[in-house]
Amino acid sequence: MDDCLFCKIIKGEIPSKKVYEDNFVYAFLDIEPQAPFHAVIVPKVHIASAAEIDEENSMYVSKIYEAVAKIAKKENLQKGFRVVTNCGEDGGQTVGHLHFHLLARRYLQWPPG
Ligand code: AMP
Ligand code: ZN
Repeated sequence: MDDCLFCKIIKGEIPSKKVYEDNFVYAFLDIEPQAPFHAVIVPKVHIASAAEIDEENSMYVSKIYEAVAKIAKKENLQKGFRVVTNCGEDGGQTVGHLHFHLLARRYLQWPPG
């Protein structure tokens, strides 16, 4: 999608600090980290939000979780981590391309605010 921030990051039109990449998934450091380690993991196709996941594209979600496990090993996150997807206005989603936040290296309160 031409005017999508994360599509531009995937294409390299906007710089990012790459954490992981494969044929399906791109992961980069969040520009406004909410934890000492904060990566954003996105599918390499434009899916607007978690509300748009269907039978055709749900494979990307499993690929994203495979990436989570690989990043966690590579970054030594054995103490734990949290994966969060914000969806829509009440969910606090600010970028309209499906993404998963991977947060780690501090104790993460539950329930979140
Ligand atoms: P959300 O608010 O859940 O939609 O998450 C969007 C995330 O993208 C936020 O945590 C932002 O800090 C992050 N973000 C926005 N622009 C950039 C960028 N250019 N590079 C890296 N992360 C970004
Ligand atoms: Zn996009």
